[in-house]
Amino acid sequence: MASSNLYPTAELRAADSRHYLHPFTDFKALAAEGSRVMVRGEGVWIEDSDGNRYLDGMAGLWCTNVGYGQTAIADAVHEQMKELAFYNSFFKTSNAPAIRLAEKLAQLAPAHVNHVFFCGSGSEANDTVVRLVRHYWALKGKPTKDIIIARHNAYHGSTMAGASLGGMKPMHSQGGMPIPGIVHIPQPYWFGEGGDMTPAEFGVWAAQQLEKKIEELGENRVAAFIAEPIQGAGGVIIPPETYWPEIKRICEKYDILLVADEVICGFGRTGRWFGSDYYGIKPDLMSIAKGLTSGYLPMGGVMVSDRVADVIIGIGEEFYHGYTYSGHPSCAAAALANLKIIEEQGLVDRVADDIGPYFQKQWLALGEHPLVGEARMVGLIGALELVPNKPSRSEKFANTGNVGTLCRDISFNNGLIMRATRDSMIISPPLVITHAEADELIKRATKTLDETYSALKKDGRVH
Ligand SMILES: *Cc1c(COP(=O)(O)O)cnc(C)c1O
Repeated sequence: MASSNLYPTAELRAADSRHYLHPFTDFKALAAEGSRVMVRGEGVWIEDSDGNRYLDGMAGLWCTNVGYGQTAIADAVHEQMKELAFYNSFFKTSNAPAIRLAEKLAQLAPAHVNHVFFCGSGSEANDTVVRLVRHYWALKGKPTKDIIIARHNAYHGSTMAGASLGGMKPMHSQGGMPIPGIVHIPQPYWFGEGGDMTPAEFGVWAAQQLEKKIEELGENRVAAFIAEPIQGAGGVIIPPETYWPEIKRICEKYDILLVADEVICGFGRTGRWFGSDYYGIKPDLMSIAKGLTSGYLPMGGVMVSDRVADVIIGIGEEFYHGYTYSGHPSCAAAALANLKIIEEQGLVDRVADDIGPYFQKQWLALGEHPLVGEARMVGLIGALELVPNKPSRSEKFANTGNVGTLCRDISFNNGLIMRATRDSMIISPPLVITHAEADELIKRATKTLDETYSALKKDGRVH
């Protein structure tokens, strides 16, 4: 165990604010407040440099599916690094872990998906998607079929193409995005945008916005539609049951590629290997990252269906695209060890049949709380919509995000990491969470809701 003077909090915080520019951060505000320095993880627990312990309800950042402290992954990476830490896959070379991983992924993916292009992250995966779908249509003799349709409030990463595919308004306001050739349609967010429609009606309506957009642009201009099976960063938006079947119908009717961004939904989160399995979607491409390695090392990829592979392989033209770390052997070793744990511990079935239903029952019951307008969850990914005047769906808190942030901070103080998106609270715990830990999480979440509610009541922000 590390002695406490290895982690002198004040000194680390000072150096942090002097030199370290954090992602998605108001640098000045963080420097004033000081960051929490995380030092250790075990199972679903995280510890900071002051010795505070937190139940990590977010699996790191939607990624540590097997939890922290899995020494089998560390050992596999250690062995691989001693043997061959790195080699590239560019010049007719390959490496054993990347080959084995590609083979394994083909086995786990839906039957019609048998190839993978490796990269370093989810963002790089989606950049690869943009280039790959355009390359595909160019090879098919249709170079003008180059527009990609995505959705408002989707998250597809933070690179130029990833952030452009994503529909996050604040991100688009900086740095000249979206890049040309990407357009957005409404999201299937019934609680927030469903108006007077039933969820079923709204699901069909939201899907038909795709058809409308295709007809507006012309089928000969549209290359692909990309979507997360369940939107993660957008606020765990679980589409109505009617949504995906209608999307599937539309993608089949018009000749456009369907891309499932599986970066969060993949590797067991929904109780199936992929969100596409959960919803019965037949994607042409799937972006993967996060749960692929459970975050132990960075790695992503694009899984390619036979339909697309036949063209990009069959025609025999070089695809001018790749990353130094495509198929990184040490990262591939981490992924293989991670997938082995998921398989050996039966984590996917566990989410479907055991901890998933157990946890969902308690999470959905939080919907009874006076502050909660809706509780929703699939597998082990869920959200709570905080509202000022239950049961009204339309009434929102003033200054969107303030209440979410307040609730998140209270949650941290209660030793539970939940994330806030707007004024909803998000949960996506490691798939290894035990029944007792699930009970503990619910206990802390309830306390957090109670305390948030009292604070809001005091200054008249709830009715
Ligand atoms: C996190 C995320 C990404 C981006 O992955 P990075 O590894 O952060 O680049 C892309 N798509 C989805 C759905 C994500 O949640």
